[in-house]
Amino acid sequence: MTVRLDYDSFDLGGMTWEDAEEAIPNADFLVLPTGSVEQHSIHLPVTVDTLRAEALSRELVESASEHDLSMVRLPTLPYGYSEHHMNYAGTITLSAETYMHVVEEIAQSMAKHGAKRLVLLNCHGGNRSPLKLAGDRIQRDHGVKVFFVHWTDFARDKLKERFGEEWGHAGDHETSVIELFYPDLVKSDKKESQTRKARFEARQYTYFDDITEQGGLGDPTESDAEFLEEIVAETTEKILSALSEDMEQEG
Ligand SMILES: [Zn+2]
Repeated sequence: MTVRLDYDSFDLGGMTWEDAEEAIPNADFLVLPTGSVEQHSIHLPVTVDTLRAEALSRELVESASEHDLSMVRLPTLPYGYSEHHMNYAGTITLSAETYMHVVEEIAQSMAKHGAKRLVLLNCHGGNRSPLKLAGDRIQRDHGVKVFFVHWTDFARDKLKERFGEEWGHAGDHETSVIELFYPDLVKSDKKESQTRKARFEARQYTYFDDITEQGGLGDPTESDAEFLEEIVAETTEKILSALSEDMEQEG
C-alpha cells in the first residue's frame, strides 16, 4: 500500500534525490492519490478509499504515456477528513484544517523542486471540500497548477446505470473495486444489503450512522468485479483525456 517494495519507475517513493531532481520538473503532472481510514461497513476494511487511491492511481499513471503524458506518482496520502464516520471504530480523521495544511505543504515541497502541475486524485467524498480549498491556495500561493480529479465523478453515469442510485459508500461499487484489486480483504460472508435509516432531501446528516445501520449504502451482494474492470479502463482513459485537453488550453 503506502509503503511498498515494488515501486515502479514513475513512483517518487522509489527515487533517489538525483532521480527526483530530474523527474519532478520534467513531469507533465505529479499525481497525489488521496484516500481515508474510515469504516466501510462490516465486510470491508477501513482502508478501502486508500486502497482504491493506490490501485486507481497506478492504473492512471501506467497509461499516461499512451496520451503522451509523463507523470510522477507521489506516495498515497492514507489519512483524510472523516469526522462523520467517527462513531464507528477504526476510523481515523484529520481535522479539515490539518488536512488542508498537509496537502498544501506537500504541494509546496514539490513546488520547491520544480513541479508544474499537480493532480489531486481523490477517492474519498469527505476529502472533496478541503481538497478544493487547498487546491485554491496551492494555485494562488505556490505557482503549481492544480487538477482536481474525484475519481468517481468520471465514472458516475456508468455506475448509476449498472448499480442504481445507492452504489456509494461500501456499497456495490466500492465492494467491486476491492474484489477486483484486493479480493482477500473482502469478508464475503458478511456482505449484506445495507439498511437505510433515513434519506434527507436537504438536511445534512451529522454522523454516518444517522442514515445507515451497518455503515454502508446500497447492496454489496450486487458487486461485480468484472464490470468494474471495464469501468476502470474506461475511466482511466476519460481522466487522461481530460488532463491532456486541459493542458492543451494552457497554450
Ligand atoms: Zn469509501
